[in-house]
Amino acid sequence: MKRKLLKTALAAALAALSLAAPLSSDGATRAVPRLVFPVVGPVSYIDDFGAPRGRLPHQGNDLMGTKKSTVVAVEAGTVTFWTHSASAGCMLYLHGRSGTMYEYIHLNNDRTMKNDNRGRCVAGTAYAKGLKDGARVEAGQPVGYLGDSGDANGIASHLHFEVHPRGGSAVSPYPYLKRARVLLFAANPGDRVSLTLKGTVIAADTGAGTLSMRLTDLVASTDLHLEKLSRTITLALSPDTLVLDEFGNNVPFENLNELSGGEPVQIETTSVPTTLTSELGSSLALTTFSVTIPS
Ligand SMILES: [Zn+2]
Repeated sequence: MKRKLLKTALAAALAALSLAAPLSSDGATRAVPRLVFPVVGPVSYIDDFGAPRGRLPHQGNDLMGTKKSTVVAVEAGTVTFWTHSASAGCMLYLHGRSGTMYEYIHLNNDRTMKNDNRGRCVAGTAYAKGLKDGARVEAGQPVGYLGDSGDANGIASHLHFEVHPRGGSAVSPYPYLKRARVLLFAANPGDRVSLTLKGTVIAADTGAGTLSMRLTDLVASTDLHLEKLSRTITLALSPDTLVLDEFGNNVPFENLNELSGGEPVQIETTSVPTTLTSELGSSLALTTFSVTIPS
């Protein structure tokens, strides 16, 4: 009996332990869902969680990117602005629906692309245009702009990003960032957006109604311009697509089948409502309006 009690107590203690930090096979805590990558556009980062930084080891990962890059909600939840930290600068908490809390630190505080420090921690400068403190946000919704506020002032612009499973201590964001879903563009949910996509053809099939391309440049109708991209997307090739050569002359639709791959291509998409699927540029989520190919 005693032994059984001990066993039960041990099982309970183990269960409590696993509740506190449930480990999956890869050692990651299960409380954190698959994330949307927090920055739109090219960034570079390493796993600098725990690196020595002043009094405390580094509590997040630094995502180095272009100043004013759009920063998005990694999962659905509510946001809280924090503007009173000298070291964090303009900062945001995202209380995720999963119970995980995320911190977005060093958001933009510049009016221009220079380090003018003339912007304040307000919507439109640090936080997404029109975003209110306490607002509910969808996964992939813009919440702010990458910057160098706080003790990152004048140092390379970056997003310091933290992950706090169940609102507890920070864990390394790195494994979650590595498997996060990377957005093609970001806009407010429901906003209609059309894209101009530049890159090279992989293959086009007018019968199947598909065109895949390697994407290098993107301009969105929402004032977003991204360069130096490196990703593959597959668009729905509508039979109504306007096919043009580089001089603007009409080309027969079927000529697209003759593309052998590698040709430069510029595509205008039809306008689509912003959803996570369209933001991700998922296969066939975007439709061609016009395709420009070399003559
Ligand atoms: Zn940092």
